Order: sequence, then C-alpha cells, then structure tokens
Amino acid sequence: PSDFDPRVARRQFPGLAEPGLHYLDNAATAQVPEAVLDALRRFEVEARGNVHGTPHRRSLAAQAAYDAARAAVAAYLNVAPREVVFTYGATSAINLVADSLADRLGPADRVVVSWLEHHSNLLPWQKLARRRGVRLGALPVTAEGRLDLARLGEVVRPDTRLVAVTHCSNVTGAETDVAAVVEAARAVGALVLLDGAQRAPHGPLDLPGLGADLYAFSGHKTYGPTGIGVLWGRSEVLDWLPPFMVGGQMIRSVTMDEASFADPPRRFEAGTPPIAGAVGLGAAADWALGLDWPAIRAHERRLTARAIAGLRALPGVRLLGPLDLERRGPVVSFVAEGVDSLGLCRRLDRDGFALRSGHHCAQPLHAVLGASSSARASFALYNEESEVDGLLLAVERALVELRA
Ligand code: PMP
Repeated sequence: PSDFDPRVARRQFPGLAEPGLHYLDNAATAQVPEAVLDALRRFEVEARGNVHGTPHRRSLAAQAAYDAARAAVAAYLNVAPREVVFTYGATSAINLVADSLADRLGPADRVVVSWLEHHSNLLPWQKLARRRGVRLGALPVTAEGRLDLARLGEVVRPDTRLVAVTHCSNVTGAETDVAAVVEAARAVGALVLLDGAQRAPHGPLDLPGLGADLYAFSGHKTYGPTGIGVLWGRSEVLDWLPPFMVGGQMIRSVTMDEASFADPPRRFEAGTPPIAGAVGLGAAADWALGLDWPAIRAHERRLTARAIAGLRALPGVRLLGPLDLERRGPVVSFVAEGVDSLGLCRRLDRDGFALRSGHHCAQPLHAVLGASSSARASFALYNEESEVDGLLLAVERALVELRA
C-alpha cells in the first residue's frame, strides 16, 4: 500500500494547471513543484548576494543557501558534499570533464562511448579526440536499443582510460547495467563516467554503490530550474582533474604570471556560480527525498507499459526501445510509417499532448535504428493513466488524418 497518488502530486505543480495540457515531454524538461518555486523566491528576496566569502549578512546568507543546496544534492546522490560540483547542466558537466582530461590524455589513450549517446556525451569526446589525438571507441547497441554488453570486452581495450556512457537512454529508455560496464572498465584500469540526465529524475541514487567515478545530470529534468546541473566525482578523481573554466572564486593564489587553484568543488566553479539555480535544485532534491520512490517507479512503469502496449497495437507504428520493462525508464519513442514525427507532434499538440519530435540529439542512434526521427512521450510522476489513454486515442486519430 502506498500513499502516492499522481493526482495529489499534480496539485503541487502550478505549471500543470493549464486546462487541457497533457505534458509528456518530461525527458526534455520537467515541470517544477511549488517547493522549488517557493525556495527560489525566498532566496531572491531574503538571501540574494554573492558567495565571495564576504562577511556581510547577505553574502553569508547566500553562501549558507548555496552550501545547503550542495548538501541536499549530495544527500540525493548519497555522496559527500565536496564531491558535488555545480555546473550549468549535464552538457556543461560532461564538457568540464572532457576539457579537463585534455591535460591528462593523449594519443596513447582511448575513450569509449556508445551508439546510444545523446550528442552531449559524444561531441565533447570527438572534440578531445581532434584536439589531443585521443582514440575514440564506441560500444554498439542491440536491435532493441540497449547497450550491447556482449561487445564490452572487445571495445574496452587495455588502452582505454575512460568509459563514458549513458545511465538511461533519452530515446530508447534503456537503462544501463552499470555493474557490467564498471567491471569491464576496472579490468583495464579505466574510469567510468555516467550520463545520468535521464536517470536522476527518477529517484535518489546511491552513486558509491553504483561503482562509477563520475556522474552528470541536469537540474531542469530533475524538477529543478534550468541553468543548473551537477557533476559528481569521486574525491580522488576530482583531486586529480585540473580546472576547466578559470577565473574568479576558484583560486588559491594568483600572480601576474601564474595561478594555483582551490580544492574541489570550488576548483571547478569559476566565476559567480548559478546560485539561485543551485538553491532551486537543492529544494527539488529535498522535496524528492520525501517521496515514496518505489511507488512512483511502479507508477511510471505502469504508464510506460500502457503506452508501449497501446502504441504497438497501432498499424504501422514501430517502437524504438525495448519492450520489456526491466531496466527501462519511462521514455517511449516511436516511428509511424508514412508520417513524419514533426507533423505528428504538431497535430498532437492541438489536442493538448506535448511530445518531442526529431532525433532528440541522438542522430547516430536514430541512424543505426533505421529512423531519421521519432516522436517521444516521456513520463514523470505527475502523469496519469488517463493521459496515456488520451494520447493513444489522439495518436490513432492523428495517424488516420495524416495518412489520408
Ligand atoms: N544526456 C541526455 C541523456 C539527455 O537526455 C540530455 C538532455 N536532452 C542531456 C544529456 C543534456 O542535458 P542538458 O541539455 O540539460 O545539458
């Protein structure tokens, strides 16, 4: 028995009050709960200042709020606050690591990604390969859109220094068997970075237990504000990494010729950080830590199962992700024969259903799955089964209309 009720949860999201809106683009950006809006307003009104360590009340209040936000995010990840670096999003977290590694890796080294990646966990590594001659390897995907773990041994070679893969695909919903990836990486002494953008919104994590070394995600998909993200790194790894952006607030001492840098996490937070964004994300983490996640995950899984079953039954509709619900997030992408995804999503919006169309920043994945684009429904805790049923009817109608 659970006290989780999506209809009650919904009421905490003022953005969902718009009549007729069925927000099913949560993998792109989720809506924010009142608790986050309240925290943002409270911060801006009562604690707005910079975090320079200046001993006046507003600076101290801002610093306290920023520190509390870091502690809340750390609790959500089950890690130490000093291992939590605030960034501007998942993209900026991954770029931070890739840019920083340019000082550590060269032509003798390999970074392994996968065909499942969002461009933000592919292009930073392509750039590193171009700049430093680092070799790039890619783990293939299976026909149902999962990492092909059977190929790990052959792709993760002895020269591999980092395996950077998604924790959950933003297209196929496939969740990675992290233990298998970590085992292959450990066997050759490589680090593991997980792109957690699509996993972080679905409940608190135990990052040390997961076994990875670095973890990136975005605030705006995790019920927080835009413009804030997180890079978690094991202490030894962050201590070993040089800074990415340089400037104010991240130094130990500076002369006209050189600089030495502060310890993590400040070493990686040059300039005035996104303080309000961090406060908002901290509030989202605090709020999320109070929820019944086993019940929410069961609910999100029911929505996913209903969407998969319904879409599969429609003529000429092909799903791009696995059909089984084990290790699978609530992301359902599909292609409809003879109908382009942009036109379909535009048509669905007229009925109030907000879905994403396109390649979802995963062009190589779409290419290997034999689709140039797809439509994607992605669920959050506040979505209801009636919305899935409504979507299925709307898709059925839209397909008839668009194929006519
Ligand atoms: N990785 C994955 C799997 C994603 O889904 C996204 C967002 N679409 C990102 C990375 C990038 O996140 P952001 O745009 O917030 O930096």
